[in-house]
Amino acid sequence: MALVGVLALQGSYNEHIAVLRRLGVKGAEIKKPEQLDTVASLIIPGGESTTMAKLAEYHNMFPALREFVKMGKPVWGTCAGLIFLANRATGQKIGGQELVGGLDCMVHRNFFGSQIQSFETELSVPELASKEGGPELCRGVFIRAPAILEVGPEVEVLADYPVPANTWKNSNPGVEGLEDNSGSEKKVIVAVRQGNLLATAFHPELTADTRWHSYFLRMTTETEGASSSIVAVGADLNSNQQTKIDLPVFL
Ligand code: GLN
Repeated sequence: MALVGVLALQGSYNEHIAVLRRLGVKGAEIKKPEQLDTVASLIIPGGESTTMAKLAEYHNMFPALREFVKMGKPVWGTCAGLIFLANRATGQKIGGQELVGGLDCMVHRNFFGSQIQSFETELSVPELASKEGGPELCRGVFIRAPAILEVGPEVEVLADYPVPANTWKNSNPGVEGLEDNSGSEKKVIVAVRQGNLLATAFHPELTADTRWHSYFLRMTTETEGASSSIVAVGADLNSNQQTKIDLPVFL
């Protein structure tokens, strides 16, 4: 049985598969609902969530994706994938788009603005560092990125990012939850975990830091029944820490 599936309808699925390969794990491209039966966990990549949702609908993927989440199998959404997993989204195109849901949060689809407002930054990631070793910072590549504005009680925040309060309000006029003027800086949430669900607003697959992928592989092996297959591929998750882990490799 393949271990990790990567939803391969649109977006940066090849980059995720390349990182998995560097960790010694074969990522299986998932393009049809029945292929989900062949994997223990799933990565939903970044891309363009409206386009990805249209393709997912065309291929009748939504019921199978929801079932996969409900079964408690690990799912990691990056960027557009995070939007897919959110229970609630704002900043969507008129009419909205279908979501897989499961992650108790409200996501703003293009919180940081348009494509030209894309940026890179250092993020503090103590939980990731405690599980995977390495520095307490990781490189965050934000490409027309979403942000999480609210989370439910079950959701563990793994990284947040400070945004000046007026930028927040000005760049997102009229959006509920952004009207608070208190203080000069507010934080938005950019990485979370809720049980079997992991979500990042940025793109770890575009950097040389493999820790988010190894963290997700650990979630996969911790899930009942998956433990034997991952060991078989020979990945030693702890030996993959590199000295220079913050350099973007694909940009
Ligand atoms: N904001 C984009 C969307 O709505 C996601 C961008 C990304 O995945 N890099 O789809």
